[in-house]
Amino acid sequence: MAIDNHAEEIASDLGVDKAEVRSDLENLLEYSVPVEEAKQSLRRKYGDNGTESTAPTVNDIDSVTAETGTVTLTAVVLTVGTREIQYDGEKHVIREGELADASGTIGYTAWRDFEVRPGETVRIENASVREFQNTPEVNINDSTRVSKSEETLNVAARVGGTRQLTELDVGDAGRTVTVVVEDVETRTIDGRDGETTIKSGVLADESGRRPFTDWSARPELTPGETLRLADVYVREFRGVPEINLSRFTTVEPVDEEIVPRETAERMPIGEALGGGSQYDVELVGDILAVRDGSGLIERCPECNRVVQNGQCRTHGDVTPEDDLRVKAILDDGTGAVTVVLGRELTATVYGGDLATAKEEARSAMDQTVVGETIAEQIVGRRYRVQGQLSVDEYGATVDATRFERVETDPAAAAEAYLTGDVE
Ligand SMILES: [Zn+2]
Repeated sequence: MAIDNHAEEIASDLGVDKAEVRSDLENLLEYSVPVEEAKQSLRRKYGDNGTESTAPTVNDIDSVTAETGTVTLTAVVLTVGTREIQYDGEKHVIREGELADASGTIGYTAWRDFEVRPGETVRIENASVREFQNTPEVNINDSTRVSKSEETLNVAARVGGTRQLTELDVGDAGRTVTVVVEDVETRTIDGRDGETTIKSGVLADESGRRPFTDWSARPELTPGETLRLADVYVREFRGVPEINLSRFTTVEPVDEEIVPRETAERMPIGEALGGGSQYDVELVGDILAVRDGSGLIERCPECNRVVQNGQCRTHGDVTPEDDLRVKAILDDGTGAVTVVLGRELTATVYGGDLATAKEEARSAMDQTVVGETIAEQIVGRRYRVQGQLSVDEYGATVDATRFERVETDPAAAAEAYLTGDVE
């Protein structure tokens, strides 16, 4: 939903000025506050107290619904995450995580530090309930009383935030992972507090890999390091879960040997497309075609976009930089995706580097000849592709990290045909 529609919804629900709501909402979203959380904050700001005054108080987690007004619970704190959010021009440090009692588990957000740790039992009196991503959540605010309890609860849920990378979901907070840093890029971004240096890249463990951003650009985040990252949170970035290190995250080197999983989960293309964007998948299929804009291409030195005739759509007349790329259609009978190979993988299938490609183009007096040479190599052959799958309204694309020929064995193919076991 567009920001305008969200603003309209809040403004009409609460009878307040839409322009003002819109500007507040933009402000929150700019600071990466998830849209549902931002909307809830604005509802609070503009005085939506819902049905709090009349709704009954409930005492069991499994009976809490979005309609519950207030809750008084005795629960075990499963996780505690700390995060700073920007709200109404001010920074707020919030705590978030999960609570459990014998009846179930529920997420919480606390607008102040109530100084508890995972595993402790607490009594929470007069907390409100709000809906976050269609799920009720306990909201611990200024009118809530939190105290430690000596009660022993029979709780089935996992206490503490230790997880494997592929167990992490968007919205998780207070998680601890032990990972190998595989890839790091350092960048300077223009934030509200001026220029900020951040690090982003790839983390791996036995379960798989996930992208990360460290908003504090810690020196420990270096390729090859094995680290325990405590109190990370997970947000969605380009359709996939991304691990975020905030200034509250602690990072320590560990001696443990972590052997990252090499392969990604292999699935039929049709099934992969149904699951939406995914960070790391493996697909096997036939290359049906190589698309235009493959082979020797030119990029804008400012924004890295592919340019034609030295004209960037954003930067106009530029002196482009040469690059190699392939965009090919991979099909396995259940679906098709566009596979994008960067310079290194392109050089491998082409059998030459950038200099070779420029030489071939020069002697043919035609830049498109490089793409044609690549098409001759790969079209009609079967490949195993691993990488990040992005699914959006323009189609499905895999940014390949691996692209390997699969030899089709004629004898095995004939056998499969005869037994009716055809792929
Ligand atoms: Zn440009």
